Amino acid sequence: MKPDRSFVEAQPPGRRPSAPPGRWPRRLGWRLALGFGLLVGLMLLALSLAVWQIRTVTALTERFATHDMQRLLRVQALSLTTEGAGNALLQLMNAPREQRVPMYGDVDERNRRIDGMVAALQGQLDEPAQEQILLQLSAARATYFDAFIATVDQIEADDPAAAMHAYVQQVKPAMAELLRLSNALVNRERERVEQEVQLAQQRFEELTFAVLLLSALAVVLAGVLALRTTRSVLVPMRQLEDVARRIAAGDYQPPALASSSEEIDRVGQALGAMTGAIAQREQEIERLAFRDPLTGLPNRTYLLKQDDATVVPARSLMLFDLARLKAINETLGFATGDLLIQEVARRAQAVLATLAAADDNVPLPPAPPLLAHVSGGIFALLCCQAGRAPLERLQQRLSQAMAQPVQCSGQGVDLSLTFGLAEAPTDQAAPVVTLLRNAEVALDAAKRAAQGCAWYNSAQEAARLSHLGLLSDLRLALAESQLQMWLQPKFCLQTGRAVGAEALVRWQHPQRGFVSPAEFVPFAEQTGAITGVTDWMLAHALRTLQDWQPRWPGLSISVNVSTRDLQDASFGQRVQSALQHYGVDPTRLRLEIVESGLMHDAQSSIALLHSLRDMGVQLSIDDFGTGYSSLAYLQQLPVSELKIDRSFVTDLADKPASQQLVKTMIEMGHGLGLLVTAEGVETVAERDTLKCLGCDVMQGYLGSRPLFGAALQTWLDTLETTAALA
Ligand code: C2E
Ligand code: CA
Ligand code: CA
Repeated sequence: MKPDRSFVEAQPPGRRPSAPPGRWPRRLGWRLALGFGLLVGLMLLALSLAVWQIRTVTALTERFATHDMQRLLRVQALSLTTEGAGNALLQLMNAPREQRVPMYGDVDERNRRIDGMVAALQGQLDEPAQEQILLQLSAARATYFDAFIATVDQIEADDPAAAMHAYVQQVKPAMAELLRLSNALVNRERERVEQEVQLAQQRFEELTFAVLLLSALAVVLAGVLALRTTRSVLVPMRQLEDVARRIAAGDYQPPALASSSEEIDRVGQALGAMTGAIAQREQEIERLAFRDPLTGLPNRTYLLKQDDATVVPARSLMLFDLARLKAINETLGFATGDLLIQEVARRAQAVLATLAAADDNVPLPPAPPLLAHVSGGIFALLCCQAGRAPLERLQQRLSQAMAQPVQCSGQGVDLSLTFGLAEAPTDQAAPVVTLLRNAEVALDAAKRAAQGCAWYNSAQEAARLSHLGLLSDLRLALAESQLQMWLQPKFCLQTGRAVGAEALVRWQHPQRGFVSPAEFVPFAEQTGAITGVTDWMLAHALRTLQDWQPRWPGLSISVNVSTRDLQDASFGQRVQSALQHYGVDPTRLRLEIVESGLMHDAQSSIALLHSLRDMGVQLSIDDFGTGYSSLAYLQQLPVSELKIDRSFVTDLADKPASQQLVKTMIEMGHGLGLLVTAEGVETVAERDTLKCLGCDVMQGYLGSRPLFGAALQTWLDTLETTAALA
């Protein structure tokens, strides 16, 4: 995961990616409006042109019908009427007098109509040429009229020869001229109408062409518009789709959209903001997943990821555990515990920070060691330097850095660390998970051996592996009496007198020799084989108590009870029948339970403890301070003794902070009405300090090592003597 915030900051809100310059507006909406507006405009133009064309054609047709045709007809009528007037004159000449009178009426009528027609045509003709012809026509009409009158005069004078002469000489040419002119007018008018029609046709064609052109233009424009719009939407859409796919694949680079539209830009910006937010959130998730919130250090998960993440392979790993954290949580509160963890983290970081500057002779590591908070009070330091020396140097520096006690609400608390170290095979890298596991084994071994520090070795591994073989051997051991019960005496701190002993199992393995209970007990607990050991120890302890009854009736024996026994509903029954079998006073038997043993199935375990207590058996909390329960919880338990773990006692005299802690434990124990025993007392100074702090009972090498056989008998005899002297 590569969270990248840079682009979120790099693009201030409102800034838009630059687009290709041009007249084209940047907003898609504007573009669409403009494009479609243009299209609608063109269509409207084409439509109005078509309408105009129709109207023009209609007007032309109307004019042609009402005006031009009428004029043409009128001109044609003029020519016909003129011709008719000439013919009437010829008939007049040949007719007898009595027939001529009505004929004059007809001739006059025709002449009047000719005059009317000429008058009507005047002012109606558009062309000057036609006007000219009309003028000539009027003049010819006058000439014809004069000739007509002259001819009529000769007819009335009954001079047919003169009349004919006048007709031939005057009327005929005048009429011919009149006809010529009227025909010219008709022809001209016909030509004009034809021209008009041709012109109208031409204009109609032109308009049709314009409408077609506009329509074609609109179609082309619509096509271009559709293409451009589609492209300006589809191309960025495809890019957006790619961006979305990239985001889905975890790539949070800012999307680079080659868009020319504002809307797409805005979508791009929103996408940019979204990727930024996702990257930020992912970073936060990563922080939560890989960081320990208390110390801010990388956590175990992060540590285990280092194989894939780092370029420089891991060569060694150190685990260090803040000792007695649980007890500190119990007595001084979780806030103090947290404070100590934070302080360890702070000091460890300070050590790493000064690493390079500290020693010029020491070569710098290829990559700085990685400090992680694994769990509770456990930290890990992953190194990529080969060999033991660098890690051991670091371990020493860390120990030195923790020397100064931490001040918590007015009292100093020691920061004591236990180290487990593991290295990869020579010249090889090892998976972090392996190093971590090995370091855990080493840390475990260091704690068991009560050492400050231990390197992982194959013997520890072999010990682990041999457990499997031990399991079947243990069953045999029980059957063949390879086990021994050793007794470690306990003394009253005030009087120095023995109060009892703790029964500790020993195993003399026929092949492996002595096998430490620290080695096989935890394993036997896991497999359940421990219940056999408990029964065996219980029987031997009760038989010893039976033996002691006459001479040492005041001594009790403590037997260690495992978690497995507490989960066994029949355990109470087992104890009861053993007690009955040996006829021992139950108050002389103590059962030591580890507080963690109660956590699995608290209610039934507590019920079991109550039934034991009801039998009269005394119960002790073993290894107090190393478990997980709270004192408030222990208060509910029917126990009568609190055994403070060895780790609190070691060097107690020199550690004021530990003294404070132990004092609090003792006071709390007394507050609950419990007898307080200190384990692992080795020195006089430790004993005296415990006595000062008000502790009741001590157990440890100073008083006596665990005893067996003759040594035990000797001690018991001394005890009798001492008791007798006392
Ligand atoms: P524990 O119950 O805390 O027993 C005390 C252990 O501390 C014993 O180790 C004892 O030898 C050792 N010890 C006593 N005084 C001193 C001292 O002054 N200094 C030092 N350094 N050590 C001291 P041991 O016998 O090796 O037993 C180890 C653990 O094995 C016991 O711790 C107990 O948890 C378990 N264990 C021993 N016997 C039995 C048993 O019969 N049944 C069960 N369930 N567990 C047992
Ligand atoms: Ca014990
Ligand atoms: Ca113990």
